[in-house]
Amino acid sequence: MDEILYQPNSPVRRRPNAAPDLPESAVHWKERWEEGAEALRQAIKNLRLKLDEATAGGRRLVNPVHFFAVAAVVGVAAVVSTVYTPSYAVTMDGVPLGVVRNPQVFEEVVDRVEARAESILGRGYVLEGEPAFDFALSERGELTDVREIEEYLFHQIDEIMSSYVLKVDGQFIGAALEESSLEELLKEVKAPYVTENTVSSDFTSRVTVFQEYTPTDVNLDLEAMFAQLTENTNGQTTYEVVKGDTFMQIALDNGMTVREMQELNPDINIDLIHIGQLLNIREEIPFLSVTTVDRLTYHEPIECPVEQLEDSSMYQGETRVIEAGIPGEALVTADVTYVNGREQDREILESETLSEPTTRVIAVGTKVRPSWYPNGYFIWPVYGHITSRFGYRSIFGSYSYHGGIDIATAYGTGIAAADGGTVTFAGRATGYNWSYGNLVIVDHGNGKQTYYGHCSSILVSAGDHVYQGQTIARVGSTGRSTGNHCHFEVKIGGTSVNPLAYLS
Ligand SMILES: [Zn+2]
Repeated sequence: MDEILYQPNSPVRRRPNAAPDLPESAVHWKERWEEGAEALRQAIKNLRLKLDEATAGGRRLVNPVHFFAVAAVVGVAAVVSTVYTPSYAVTMDGVPLGVVRNPQVFEEVVDRVEARAESILGRGYVLEGEPAFDFALSERGELTDVREIEEYLFHQIDEIMSSYVLKVDGQFIGAALEESSLEELLKEVKAPYVTENTVSSDFTSRVTVFQEYTPTDVNLDLEAMFAQLTENTNGQTTYEVVKGDTFMQIALDNGMTVREMQELNPDINIDLIHIGQLLNIREEIPFLSVTTVDRLTYHEPIECPVEQLEDSSMYQGETRVIEAGIPGEALVTADVTYVNGREQDREILESETLSEPTTRVIAVGTKVRPSWYPNGYFIWPVYGHITSRFGYRSIFGSYSYHGGIDIATAYGTGIAAADGGTVTFAGRATGYNWSYGNLVIVDHGNGKQTYYGHCSSILVSAGDHVYQGQTIARVGSTGRSTGNHCHFEVKIGGTSVNPLAYLS
């Protein structure tokens, strides 16, 4: 087969009517081919007659020599008629493309090339060029493989190139001429999360790089691709409050102002967060998230086993440490999984005990608690509408400090002791404290006191032990008051604090 002469970048134009007249030389060849074929047909006919004579009478065996002679001639005839075929040499603007069976075959090739170009470019495409066809007799094997012609024409299209295409979850990001450029780019995206301990790194999305045909004006800007892959979107996640947390610190740690974090947590009292509570926090999510696994080896304390000893000299719920115990130590090897640098999972592979912990011994009280003994938390003294909160306020036209909360409810409603304790004052407040009216003060130990003001009547006396929930007074409007309510105040170490932060 003749090789196709590729002349890259030669413009290709198409002529719509493609069946030309046979050139004179081709007519001559055709005649000769027909003469030869006729001669062969005659020879085959003669041999068939001989063969029929040889088998006439039925009993005579065919002479093997005759048989093979016939077979040979029949074979030659078959070869002649199947080997040679009319064909057309195709040129486009003078560039030889190959030999095809007929112009229509070439037309179909052009159609396929144009369809491929259209699907890649996303618009109509017409292959330009002037095809010419020369008739010739060819051996069948000399016909050019049409796929070669198709590939050649396809590669002449300047608007299309072969490149490596980067996709994330099927979304086209960009392309590069070298596969290594994209591999390098993806490595850079992972780089901030990869440490010397990283044993594997991956993307949470499906990232593919395939060689494809693309338009030549496709995005080849690696920097723009990097920016797109690492761009953050604002997501939201939850944070579980741990001991020592404050609302403000959680906000700061997560790159938010208190106001921004309040907006994410509209129903939360920022002064009243508690351990285990879930808060909404903002989360920056990169377009392409990276999962890494680090293999870490570190020392970890082993908690002391605890032994409890009963002690009848202490009240129930009280404990005392007899022996603190010394924690042990373990050498731990773990695979830690991170997503964008945040730990998601920790799988302990090995834990070798370096030192055993010693036992921690504590005494646990068994003595029955007196009913008036404080439980360590406060219940609401009355239920009602809070008409004035803790802090600065305007009252009677002047700006003043309010040391407690005012809970409005009906005259005569029973006021409960917020916790058990000892009454230290019960009666009409005087002097500096006159504005409380009828007042009860309960001491709960550990520097904690509660005040109940403006009572209509008082049911306890100084020195009494009262239990949590015991009715100690009744709601009224004595002292500096404009209506029936209970002024409830909590003091710790002599300082008024916001009761709402302590009520449960
Ligand atoms: Zn008040």
